[in-house]
Order: sequence, then C-alpha cells, then structure tokens
Amino acid sequence: MTNTNDELKAMHAPFENPKFIFFTDFDGTITLQDSNDFMTDNIGFGGDKRRQGNKDVLDGTDTFRDSFRKMMDSVTRPFPQCIEYLVKNIKLDPGFTEYLDWALENNIPTVIVSSGMHPVIEAIMKNLVGEEKAAKIDIISNQVEGRPGKTIDQEGGWQIKYHDESGFGHDKSLCIRPYANLPAEQRPTLFYAGDGVSDLSAARETDLLFAKKGHDLIRYCVKQNTPFTMFSDWTDILTKVKEIVEGKKSVQDAAREGYEAYQKGESGLNGHAK
Ligand SMILES: [Mg+2]
Repeated sequence: MTNTNDELKAMHAPFENPKFIFFTDFDGTITLQDSNDFMTDNIGFGGDKRRQGNKDVLDGTDTFRDSFRKMMDSVTRPFPQCIEYLVKNIKLDPGFTEYLDWALENNIPTVIVSSGMHPVIEAIMKNLVGEEKAAKIDIISNQVEGRPGKTIDQEGGWQIKYHDESGFGHDKSLCIRPYANLPAEQRPTLFYAGDGVSDLSAARETDLLFAKKGHDLIRYCVKQNTPFTMFSDWTDILTKVKEIVEGKKSVQDAAREGYEAYQKGESGLNGHAK
C-alpha cells in the first residue's frame, strides 16, 4: 500500500471494497478552527489582511491559490514551530471521535481532502484521535517545501507546495472522480462533508454533501442545485450516515430533507464565504 499514485487507495486501504467512503474537508469541518486562518491571524499578517484576501477572491480580483500563498508566506516561523503551535491550539469537532470509531467498525474509510499542508494535518490528527486511528485516515492535500537554498526548519525557510495547477491549488474534485467513475457494481456510495466554497467541486462528485450550518457553502449549493444536507457537528453526520448505511433512508431522501430544512430557515446563514 505504499504506491502514492494509487488513485483508488480507499478501495483497499484500510478496508477491501468498501460499500461507502466518507471524504471530508479538514479545516473547520473536522476541527473547530481553521488551522491556516489561525496561523495567519496569530503569527502571520493578521485577520484584517486575511479577510481582505478572502474578499479579493470573491470579487474575482485574486485566485484562491495566490491569496492562500500570500497568507502562508506571511508566516515566517520555522515549520516545526508552526506545527507545534497548531497542535497546541486546534480543537476537534465534538462528535468526530464517535463517528470515526463507528466508521472503522463498519468498514467505512475516511479520506481527508484538504487545501492545508500534509504534515500539519497529520500532526493535528495524531494528537486529536491518537496515532493508531490517525494511521487509518488517508490525507490528500497540499505539501510544504523548503524555499530555494533553505530548509523548512529555518526562519522564513518554508513555502506551500500545491497539489495541482488549478486556481484552488488543490482541485478537490480530481481525487474523488476516479471513485465516482467506477462501474456501478463496484462503486461505493460517496459522502462528503465541508464548510467552504472550495468544497463545492468535490461535493458534486459525491452522492451526498454534508454542508456545515452557518457557512456560505449552503448558499452556493442552492444556487447551483447541488443536493446537500446540513450539520452542526459530527453527531448530526453520524446519525444520518447510520440511517443510510442501515438502509433506513436513501441518500436522495437525506438530500431532500436537507433542502426542506434549508427552506424552513434552519441553515443559520450569517457566516462568510471561504
Ligand atoms: Mg474548511
């Protein structure tokens, strides 16, 4: 299982031919805070500049890719210190551990799909769920690299290394498509959880999107006719996924209920797009 180019890794690790796969965003979805925002706001150029950067992306005057690189470039602390700082401060969603235990018992792989950097996510997950369970979660994300002539453990020595050439830096749909394109008799049911606009392209490849309440992702889903259901934390996700896995509810029913809840004004929308 060491082939890093394995496009269908979750079909055989940690389980053989799963019937369901759960893809999920990391920052603000599994964790309560966004680790990159946290780092930028506290040890980088600060919240005001970060929010201006978000606006520029929404206005179309900058790409997510370039705006995110500026955020990361503003953090000059040696990379090991950044990891240590984040491990100390980033908290887990209150329902995630219960979900993960259930998913592992029921042969459902969990795959993190993130715009963050691999070593950061790995270190935070090890700290929050323990080494043994963290090893069973696949992470598809951006990377970190040394700047020319420097190493990542020097002051100002690291930079983000993007996963692909897209304007997002990491087009999350690319890694899900091979699963979505499997022949019907092999293709698992695909779930996705997220909170940001960069999750939308990924969600379109899956069968059911869990969109976090209070975030603009919901508004985008409605606008673009992407089926979704809402969650506040992973206890909501676990309840719904259990019903689907146990055959008590179809993904179509779950998506219809999600839309009805949205129409009733239960989406808690006053967050900002990201
Ligand atoms: Mg997020």
